[in-house]
Amino acid sequence: MALSLYNTLTRRKEVFQPLEPGIVRMYSCGLTVYNYAHIGNLRTYIFSDILRRTLEYEGYEVLHVMNVTDVGHLTSDADEGEDKMEKGAREAGKDIWEIARFYEEAFWRDLELLNIEKPKVICRATEHIPEMIALIQRLMERGHAYETDQAVYFDISTFPKYTEFTRQPLEQKVIGAREEVQEDPQKRHPADFALWFKAVGRFKNHIMRWESPWGVGFPGWHIECSAMAMKYLGETLDIHTGGEDHIWVHHPNEIAQSEAATGKQFVRFWMHGAFLVVGSQNGSDEERRMGKSEGNFITLQTLLDKGYDPLAYRYACLMAHYRQKLRFTWESMDAAAAGYASLKQFAARALQVGGEEPPWVQTYRDRFRSAIEDDLNMPQAMAAVSEMIREAETRKEYGVLPALYDFDRVLGLKLREAAEAAVDVDAVVKALIKEREEARKARNWARADEIRNQLAEQGIVLEDTPSGTLWRRIR
Ligand code: AMP
Ligand code: ZN
Repeated sequence: MALSLYNTLTRRKEVFQPLEPGIVRMYSCGLTVYNYAHIGNLRTYIFSDILRRTLEYEGYEVLHVMNVTDVGHLTSDADEGEDKMEKGAREAGKDIWEIARFYEEAFWRDLELLNIEKPKVICRATEHIPEMIALIQRLMERGHAYETDQAVYFDISTFPKYTEFTRQPLEQKVIGAREEVQEDPQKRHPADFALWFKAVGRFKNHIMRWESPWGVGFPGWHIECSAMAMKYLGETLDIHTGGEDHIWVHHPNEIAQSEAATGKQFVRFWMHGAFLVVGSQNGSDEERRMGKSEGNFITLQTLLDKGYDPLAYRYACLMAHYRQKLRFTWESMDAAAAGYASLKQFAARALQVGGEEPPWVQTYRDRFRSAIEDDLNMPQAMAAVSEMIREAETRKEYGVLPALYDFDRVLGLKLREAAEAAVDVDAVVKALIKEREEARKARNWARADEIRNQLAEQGIVLEDTPSGTLWRRIR
């Protein structure tokens, strides 16, 4: 089978082939670093990590680029409101640059804990202002942008394809814009969007500011992704990812800016992760997107504080398809933690028992591969994993670790580390286990139980099986 991926551009699954054989150019919209990432944000990065690992599993080299939004993202995704970064810093009473670096670091730590591979290139918006200015100039020269007293805008009337991506009439988008907003009276069309904000009017005191041909100011949010993606990956990318909210504003704007400037297709495959939602606070069934508002803001640290393994959250995400909304509850988190624990427990057992790979494992290898190749169908891939385990347990044939480790290149659940850590005990413990086996043979149950209890106190559990006594460290 071939890898097929759902492309938001065409609204269907398509067979994926990169432009250049063997190499995939992929860009992911990064975090806006005015606060910690919530587990909804992290779901989107787990999705792009699964995508990247699947491409690598398929033998591609993936040139993965991710930006860090440290300027320009306003409190609405469009041109209204204030800069999220400036607001975050003011509310925390901290220096804005300090805030940006602090939350960026926290984000890298989250990604590491979730075993998300670090992108090959990480680019901060604030370090690419010249590239953004150059792109805006190019748009100006080609007649796609205009300047007002307050800003420089992209002129959507010059890009007739603008509504193709959202498949929504422009009127709908304009109606969506809020009324009370201090509109720029010189803006030609309400749906035109800012490429550059001048440090005047509502942005007079904007702290992050740079010189530009249009005066001192700062870039709009969308331009950063076009400028940095094209700088590191060229004018046409194979894949661009983000959360599903970006389908409506951010990504159509990226397409408009990039394609108007180059005359080329910007992205061949657009892929979007569905949102993580939570029940509302008052206990009703109404679902709300996970957000950074109070009472609705769960971070990875929240999960750690409650004693969850961060990879149990990754496991929870793997149990839903990336295009399906995922409803977060503590019950589902507990179920994921239990599922992950028993997967690790099986891996530890298989490591101790060992054995040749039985021929029936091939069916599961095939099933796993077709599941991931079918638009990253992880629930199906996970079903293949658990059925393989069940069959191994039933047949008492445990030579499935090579297959499990192979699947884990995509799952990213650190099964090898977990299995090795679980069976890693010192010589004293090994001697005790041996002594207990001998005590059992001699029907000295008292001594055997004594040793079992002694080891249990050290967090080592024993299991007597036909293949001998197995042990497992549980803490
Ligand atoms: P931001 O920090 O707002 O730029 O968002 C970072 C990423 O998280 C973007 O790709 C968003 O689309 C995504 N995102 C935001 N909220 C959620 C959510 N509740 N569930 C999944 N992804 C989200
Ligand atoms: Zn972006």
